[in-house]
This record gives sequence, structure tokens and C-alpha cells, in this order.
Amino acid sequence: MRMFVPGPVDVPPDVLQAQTQPMLPHRSKEYEEIHRRAAEKAKQVFFTQFRVFLFAATGTGIQEAAVRNFANRRVLSCVNGAFGERWYEVAVTNGKEAEKLEFPWEQPVDPQRVADALRQKPYEVVTIVHNETSTGMQNPVREVAEAVRQVSPETILCVDAVSSLGGAKIEMDAWGIDLLFTSSQKCLALPPGLALAAVSDRALEKAKQVEQRGWYFDFLRMEKHRLKDSTPATPAMSLIFALDYQLDRILAEGLENRFARHSRMARRVQEWAEAQGLEVFAPPGYRSQTVTTIRNREGWDVAALNAFLKERGMRIANGYGALKNVTFRIAHMGETQPSDIEDLLQAMEAFRATIPVR
Ligand code: PLP
Repeated sequence: MRMFVPGPVDVPPDVLQAQTQPMLPHRSKEYEEIHRRAAEKAKQVFFTQFRVFLFAATGTGIQEAAVRNFANRRVLSCVNGAFGERWYEVAVTNGKEAEKLEFPWEQPVDPQRVADALRQKPYEVVTIVHNETSTGMQNPVREVAEAVRQVSPETILCVDAVSSLGGAKIEMDAWGIDLLFTSSQKCLALPPGLALAAVSDRALEKAKQVEQRGWYFDFLRMEKHRLKDSTPATPAMSLIFALDYQLDRILAEGLENRFARHSRMARRVQEWAEAQGLEVFAPPGYRSQTVTTIRNREGWDVAALNAFLKERGMRIANGYGALKNVTFRIAHMGETQPSDIEDLLQAMEAFRATIPVR
């Protein structure tokens, strides 16, 4: 089965195999060396000189960590899709005074409006999703970061790159991001269960002024252990073995080549959709490099489409949440190759040919 769903994605057999190495005591030099090596290599994918924490968690855990570590009270949540909305809910349910800065889901987050909101009131944290997996929108995080830095330099900027890091270039340090994170099961093409979170020095300083950070996701506790190449709790060892191995593969492909492959596949899918008379949900200039959301204007039966594709060893994703059946999504992330995309598009055309013309 070839997966064109936005995670969990296909994991190459040799990466799966890397998980089967025998366990080690996690407080041992042998394990610590592997942990250190994987976390150091990961910094290259984040374009950071700071640090990458490896949590036995998924991305949502780091959404929670963000608001717990950096906000005593005030959070500004940029929302233009389901995952921005989730992050807002995470802030509220953690007792923060979160305010939503909402945009229509068909539009990107507007850096000017973020700047205006920060001029009106101080916020300790701004949250933004780089790649809205629900809408296939790539938000202009670099411009938002510039706006935050100009208007409110002390605000901690937290960026969810769950469905883009490793498939799109996000330069944490150069752009001035304080927290950047991803989940293992998307563009890094690993099994689910690991969250990677890069944190800046100034963000760690801010965390010192925040009370009730909790225990498991406390970045200061993580940092204390990271300095000894370990974690406070038992690490997801098999996944870290696989991460260590997969990062070598990723760096051997070359990050720029990897990003170029993702954008080539995205362009192909988006141009194909338009040539078919279908409509890409996100506007030009903000279309995701890793997942394309297509409006289901012709009312295709998405379950029937997937059944058709499954017979051919492929699978795409329905729309997410409120966009179920109104849209469908084609992921082009991880180890998917342009030739896989060609096979998928051919099969989609074959499916379309089976629909009686109304
Ligand atoms: N943020 C984005 C943009 C996502 O796409 C997802 C999952 O698809 C999440 C957060 C949640 O990630 P996880 O399922 O790893 O907790």
C-alpha cells in the first residue's frame, strides 16, 4: 500500500528495521551516544544552533508544552484551520487566557493583523501552524516572525511544523522562531510516537519565569537531562534508533534536494488538479509543499475513490473535520517520489472516468 495520506506515511523497510536493534539501558553510555548523535543531526533539519528535545509523545504534546512552558497567562492563537484551532483549545484547557486571531480557512495568516493584535495588547506567546494539514495552506511564518520581532520582541513565537518540517525549509534561527516542532510520522517518514521540539535560549529563559509548567513536558527539566544526553523519563528508544538511521538517509539525500523534491511533487499535484478543472483549496503563493487539499466540487464519493485506489495499492485522505467529503487531500511527503505521484494521478483519472457524466 502506498500512502498519500498526511501521516502516518510510508516508512522505508530499512528504517523500520533500524527499530529492531536490541534495547539498551537508557542510562548507559552506549544509549546516550545514540541519543546525542540523533539530536545533534536533527538540528540541521531545524536550521538551528540551539537544541532539539526528543519526546516520547506526538506533536499535540508539544502544542501543550508550548503554552505550559512559555505563558503564565496570555496567548495569542493564530487560527486558519483545524490544527490552529486545536492549539487554541489546548491553551484554553490548560487554563491560559488565550485569544483567537481568526482568518478564513481559505486565507493565510496575515502578518499585519498579528502585528496589530500585538500593538493592542501584550501577549507572552504567539502560536501559529506553519502547514495547516486540514486546508493545505502554508502560512507565511517568516513574515509573521518578522512582525512579532518588530512589534513585541519579548513575545515567544511558537511554530507547529508537524506536517512540514523535513519537507519544507524552515529556518528557525534565521527567522527568529523560539519553538519549532514536528511529529515523527510526517515528513521525517518514521513511525508515530516521537515528537521533536527545538527551543531557543531566550525561550528557555522565559520558561524560568513561568510557574506550573508541569513535569513531563517541562523544557527546563528536559534541558537538564539533555546536557547529559538523556531524558527525564524513559525515551522511545526504538524510534530514536530509527531516527538516528533515517536522519543519515535524509542528510544523504541532501536537505535542499529533499525540499526540491517535495515542491516538485506539490506543483505537479496542484497543476494536475487545475488542469482537471478541480479547485485547490489554498490560494496560489500559500499552497503547501507537503499536502494538497482539493475542493470536492464534483461531489465524488471519497470512500468509493479510496476503495478504487486501494485495489491499486494506494490510499489518499478524506478532508479533515468540517472539510470531510467537501475536500479530499493528497499528501506528497516523506519518502514519496514523483513517480509515485504519477501512478496516483493516473489512477485518479481512471476513477474519474468511471463516474457517469451528469
Ligand atoms: N499539527 C498539525 C499541523 C498536524 O497536521 C497534526 C496532525 O496531523 C497535529 C498538529 C497533531 O499531531 P499528532 O497527531 O502528532 O499529535
